[in-house]
Amino acid sequence: MFQPAGTAEIIRSHQKDDSFLNSLRTTVAELAQRIAGPRIWIQWRRTLDVCADVIYLLLTTCSDLQTVGEEYVNIILTDSTLRFLPSKWRRATMTVLQVCVPYILQSSLLKLENLLQTSTSINLTPAAREVILNLLPLVRKTVSVIHRCHLAMFYIHGVFYHIAKRLTGIHYIQYMTKERSEGSMRPFQILGILSFLQLVSSLLLHLGYLVVALHNGKNSRLPSETNSFVEADTSGTNIPASEKCPLCLGRRHQSTLTPCGHLYCWKCIHEWCVTKQECPLCRDQFPVNRLIALQNFDPVEVR
Ligand SMILES: [Zn+2]
Ligand SMILES: [Zn+2]
Repeated sequence: MFQPAGTAEIIRSHQKDDSFLNSLRTTVAELAQRIAGPRIWIQWRRTLDVCADVIYLLLTTCSDLQTVGEEYVNIILTDSTLRFLPSKWRRATMTVLQVCVPYILQSSLLKLENLLQTSTSINLTPAAREVILNLLPLVRKTVSVIHRCHLAMFYIHGVFYHIAKRLTGIHYIQYMTKERSEGSMRPFQILGILSFLQLVSSLLLHLGYLVVALHNGKNSRLPSETNSFVEADTSGTNIPASEKCPLCLGRRHQSTLTPCGHLYCWKCIHEWCVTKQECPLCRDQFPVNRLIALQNFDPVEVR
């Protein structure tokens, strides 16, 4: 008989999909590196990851097929009646919401931040600029809080793993030979409650931090969860060669030394090493733990 899928099965299916997607992303990255070279790849790597995700969902969910993870635990997508497959439109909307929207949001926030920090052509007073720059980490924080709330709710109710599935009302059912025992959900409910408690306590801590900062009269920026690493800062052609990263062609952030003596951004070389453990310039092979992050090396960044 068919029943709503259990929390454990949904989690296991997404873990399986994630590991499959990771290998797909790595393959796409390797292909891009071979065809277009490391510089182009490092500029487009996030877009390529999104393309890999979209292709995967187009070939599975949008083509009336199960994903690898869904097949692995034998669960099927349905609409809210739990009787019919979700319509094609609904599945397409879910794909866009799940893969494209977070990417667009993240990259527009990053672009806006870069623009406000570097461009002088925008008609904004320095005060307004500062206010928007202070608001950006708050937007990121809010998004991450929504995500964590949603995950805690998933652990408690065990229906929608992704926000996209909640918004489009896409459920999972599973074929079972016998009735599921009631107790099987309990560990996840405890996890959900613990996640909520952790979220509330971290928010309270953050609030306390803000109050103290305001009390001290400091105009302190909220600590941002996502790194403010300036991505692909290729617009600046006036960066001295000694401060340029050969991968992103922008100003080097957190300079990192390879055993062969080449310098890169920490982020750039680290991401490069995920697929290939060699120097992009001289092809010298080395294990990732030989990378040395240079402390007090970069010139102090003006923010
Ligand atoms: Zn770089
Ligand atoms: Zn090298």
